Amino acid sequence: MISTEKTLLGKSLEELTHWVQQQGQPAYRGKQLHQWLYQKGARSLEEISVFPKLWRNQLGNYPVGRSKINYRIISPDATRKYLLSLDDGLIIEAVGIPTTKRLTVCVSSQVGCPIACDFCATGKRGYDRNLKTHEIVDQVLTVQEDFQRRVSHVVFMGMGEPLLNLEAVISAVKILNQDMHISQRSLTISTVGLPQKIIRLANHNLQVTFAVSLHASNQVLREKLIPSAISYPIKQLLEDCRQYIAITRRRVTFEYILLEGVNDLPKHAIELANHLRGFQSHVNLIPYNPIEEANYKRPNQQKTQNFMNVLQQHKIAVSVRYSRGLGANAACGQLQSSRLF
Ligand code: SAH
Repeated sequence: MISTEKTLLGKSLEELTHWVQQQGQPAYRGKQLHQWLYQKGARSLEEISVFPKLWRNQLGNYPVGRSKINYRIISPDATRKYLLSLDDGLIIEAVGIPTTKRLTVCVSSQVGCPIACDFCATGKRGYDRNLKTHEIVDQVLTVQEDFQRRVSHVVFMGMGEPLLNLEAVISAVKILNQDMHISQRSLTISTVGLPQKIIRLANHNLQVTFAVSLHASNQVLREKLIPSAISYPIKQLLEDCRQYIAITRRRVTFEYILLEGVNDLPKHAIELANHLRGFQSHVNLIPYNPIEEANYKRPNQQKTQNFMNVLQQHKIAVSVRYSRGLGANAACGQLQSSRLF
């Protein structure tokens, strides 16, 4: 796929080499540019000290494709949330989540989100546009620069629905993998699931981790929580996931938000287990992170444990994800870009 963007970030080594040659420079400058963009995180051509001064002056403010950090907030658990302003003034969020062994970046794929899940702050905010490839890659470079540490994992779990911006997301995955050397298995694409799109993603045959936001154990409940579920019956969604596994030979993670009294009862766990029996999958339970615009409650640890026990009794692989970043409104579902605290 040839990028038609003017910005340099987002281009492959080949494309950068072509670009420097168009500028009358020798081909090896393409390799230098590639290294400065993707390894050193150059924010402007001006700072690429291996380039001749005269050429750098001529290039002036040629767009590299980096965003500006508008605001940064550090949560008590060391998670950092960034508000980044894009070229057109729109603002997105990215989150850096450090542990001793990993530095994970939670990236946005859209400005806002059109899906409007009832429990998600991004959905309540509305939708502006898809992100371009370089605007996704930039988030990873920004977090890497701010932590002064290599990013090891990237999850497409920030603002937006990745499968509504499939081309840019796939290009970003390729850049993160080939140009920034993050292994595909350390990249996670999380989706609400959309008709035809799961198969389209599968056909790219990536080795990324694939996560589907199931969140409900039956169709009626799912439609209440996720408006787009109306046009995608659970049965079809699960059938497409089976096909995804057959094509990519990778298991699927099912994300399941726990909303007290809504979808966290033992009967829901049994219903869920019945759907997933024999599936090459893993269930990731996400206790609800409170948002102002919704009235749901997070179940206590006992209820969460009970739900998990039922699944385990049915031999379903399951774990609980307690989101990091709650103290900075940076946890799953809390990204909205207008609210800082
Ligand atoms: N659009 C993608 C990415 C969304 S964010 C998707 O639907 O998968 C990543 C996860 O956080 C999704 O599973 C999403 O449903 C979940 N989430 C959204 N709001 C949440 C909240 N308030 N508490 C906990 N998880 C939430």
